[in-house]
Amino acid sequence: MQFTIDLYSDTKTQPTAAMRRVIAEAVAGDEQHLECPIVAELTTRTATLLGQEAAIFLPSGTMANGIAVLVQCRPGDELIVHHTAHHLNFEAGSAAGLAGTMVRPIDGAAGQFDAATLAAAIRPEKRHLPRSRMVSIEQTTNIGGGTVWPLERIEAVANVAHERGLVVHLDGARLMNAVVASSVDAGRFGALCDTVSLDFTKGLGCPFGAVLAGSAATIDQAWRWKQRLGGSMRQAGMFAAACIHALDHHVERLADDHANARLLAHLLGAIDGLRVMPVETNMVFVDVADTGLTADEFNARLAEFGIRMSIQGGTVLRAVTHLGVDRDAIETTAAAIDEIVRR
Ligand SMILES: *Cc1c(COP(=O)(O)O)cnc(C)c1O
Repeated sequence: MQFTIDLYSDTKTQPTAAMRRVIAEAVAGDEQHLECPIVAELTTRTATLLGQEAAIFLPSGTMANGIAVLVQCRPGDELIVHHTAHHLNFEAGSAAGLAGTMVRPIDGAAGQFDAATLAAAIRPEKRHLPRSRMVSIEQTTNIGGGTVWPLERIEAVANVAHERGLVVHLDGARLMNAVVASSVDAGRFGALCDTVSLDFTKGLGCPFGAVLAGSAATIDQAWRWKQRLGGSMRQAGMFAAACIHALDHHVERLADDHANARLLAHLLGAIDGLRVMPVETNMVFVDVADTGLTADEFNARLAEFGIRMSIQGGTVLRAVTHLGVDRDAIETTAAAIDEIVRR
């Protein structure tokens, strides 16, 4: 089913006309043989952007997270994440299934944990314990509500991890949303971590692609895994060109998505029976419990208006703004929701 207003996720964007032209006109080489200048430009540029030495172009953020774990962890090692983390909930068990790594969930408000909670979770060096090896931070948090980790909190968490001999991965699927919301450069977040991923298919609006950045030695090993997993590509410059276009044209405009999310939260907040969580970036979480409807029932009614959100649990829905959703769409959505609640 096609939705006229699709707030399910920022993955639901279509490439713009300008991006399609860039893709069509790209003269790409064989990236697997390092013969593609466009992929080379993208990886050089993103390594610098993310505060790292080197980067590798990959089909998806899931592969970027998976390869980060494969490179850094040994079977039986432990990866520490927030309990809402993508690694744990949405990667088909990649860390365990591919790397033999145990994923240990820890708690904290809004998808984030603090240095003290991490310190308490890291296991001492004992022969009979799993080795705590890696911690992963989601910037912005996804199921945590689209919140932005403050730089100081990442710094404190990374310091604890590094003191105890762990490496830090920044799952930056939506890192540029955090950059635009906080005015902190991506490289300042990235330089605190050992590996950083960035997704081009979320708010950046590309049909394909992610990068993983790290030290030259780490990215060398990542290449072996990319090859092994079948992630090595051929004329991938066609997609890399779209990613470069997105870095040039789709970053600053994330501020519009954030403004639209705030507007939606504001309009929904005025409707009796809805509880709206605070908005920091492009996600709006709304609890419809007081309407007497489940999230499923609520979404079915929205579908009658050609609108879709995603379901996050019994009575909670999530709306994500993106370049396919303008201010009019937000107002139309709020009016539809008002009507559903009043009925
Ligand atoms: C979407 C997402 C990913 C990776 O997703 P792909 O769809 O595989 O690109 C990783 N982490 C987070 C937090 C995400 O939201």
